[in-house]
Amino acid sequence: MSRPIVAIVGRPNVGKSTLFNRIAGKRIAITEDTPGVTRDRIYAEAEWLNKYFTLIDTGGIEPASEDIILKQMKRQAEVAIDTADIILFLVDGKNGVTSADRDVAEMLRKSKKKVILACNKMDKFVDEGNIFEFYELGIGDPVSISSTEALGLGDLLDVIIENFPEESDTEYNDEVIKVAVIGKPNVGKSSLINRILGQERVIVSDIPGTTRDAIDTYFKSKDHEFVFIDTAGIRKRKKIYDNIEKYSVVRSFAAVERADICLMIIDVNEGVTEQDTKIAGYAHDNGKGIIVLINKWDLIEKDDKTYKTFIDDVRNKLPFMTYAPIFPISALTGQRVNKILDEIIEINNFRNMRIATGVLNDVINEAVLMNQPRTVKGKRLKILYVSQVSVCPPKFVIFVNNKELMHFSYVRYLENKIRENFLFKGTPVVFTLKNRG
Ligand code: GDP
Ligand code: GDP
Repeated sequence: MSRPIVAIVGRPNVGKSTLFNRIAGKRIAITEDTPGVTRDRIYAEAEWLNKYFTLIDTGGIEPASEDIILKQMKRQAEVAIDTADIILFLVDGKNGVTSADRDVAEMLRKSKKKVILACNKMDKFVDEGNIFEFYELGIGDPVSISSTEALGLGDLLDVIIENFPEESDTEYNDEVIKVAVIGKPNVGKSSLINRILGQERVIVSDIPGTTRDAIDTYFKSKDHEFVFIDTAGIRKRKKIYDNIEKYSVVRSFAAVERADICLMIIDVNEGVTEQDTKIAGYAHDNGKGIIVLINKWDLIEKDDKTYKTFIDDVRNKLPFMTYAPIFPISALTGQRVNKILDEIIEINNFRNMRIATGVLNDVINEAVLMNQPRTVKGKRLKILYVSQVSVCPPKFVIFVNNKELMHFSYVRYLENKIRENFLFKGTPVVFTLKNRG
């Protein structure tokens, strides 16, 4: 189950950033160094009573110069509705209700998302008189807090965690291949999803027994069951603003956590962006399978070198995932789109593959004979044997005489030998070392 996402929305100066920093404390997830971004961070991992969640400060959405406050707030609210499981609507308890508050409240109510109202700047609880006027926003009981004085924050966090969505990952059995479609806005994610779902013999149906919002798309094809994870934001969104793009990363991380395999879409005209690298790295570190698709292939002029040039370029930018299939597609014309499900099935098979210990150690012994570990201060590493301990992703334990003598490049060498023999296409494989006397 991925962490719930909580987004703070509210007028400028109500104290969003102060509250964010209070709750997030020192747990900084990402520092935003894009020029023009006023906040130095837009999201952080937070925790209350052992419940972990991701907190987003939508105040980082800067108004374009001609923007009025209301327009800016509406954007914040849109991002929050698109991205978060829970929206924390912050108002200034000292100032009372403003018309912008009313408009945003209406938008949030219509979204049917869980919204929690907090009145900030209630520094002395004698101020509480004002709080009743906030009932008119129609969002239920306001929680009064003071972000600067750290008052009422525990109560607020209690309400937040009480409203977390129920665990729902158990809803899919192991047969269902969970696929996250990730990539920047406008690379063609929704076009591709619709293309795949529109193919012959793809049967789309409602998600069985989901407790969360219907955000996943379940379908059957080629005798397999699949689910595209978290398609709500992707398939429904009409327009997207440039400066909210960074928020889509938060949602992507959450989708990757729930997935078995990621389809990473990049735009042929843009190539691999820094954001893509971050998400790919996250997928790799979390042991997820991955396919990189270069979309909008129809848009470029091609000669006999184009294909290789583009693929080499993507590989160079993602050097840590040599195992990933990379190929160009066009969601528009459908070029190579029908190859995608076959690749997913193949990668899923590799992720579930178990290598018998005997066969595995034949490969390892031969590898060691061909290239002995170097001696370190007169001591030589001995590889005793290797055993595959689990799948999805495949995990191996290497039993050695002394772990400290192992150099990471030698692990890489063994990984290459294992891949030469068993391929493990499209998936990371994980190694741990154990001492055995
Ligand atoms: P944002 O624009 O909504 O992110 O608001 P900020 O967090 O930047 O806060 C705006 C101003 O309100 C700052 O001067 C804060 O110090 C002040 N502020 C924030 N929270 C409180 C509070 O609980 N009580 C009081 N008195 N001031 C606060
Ligand atoms: P998303 O934001 O990643 O879901 O992107 P969309 O699927 O909404 O696509 C963004 C824009 O790119 C739309 O105008 C699509 O018609 C266009 N688009 C998507 N895939 C392709 C493609 O393969 N070729 C071309 N030429 N345009 C595409």
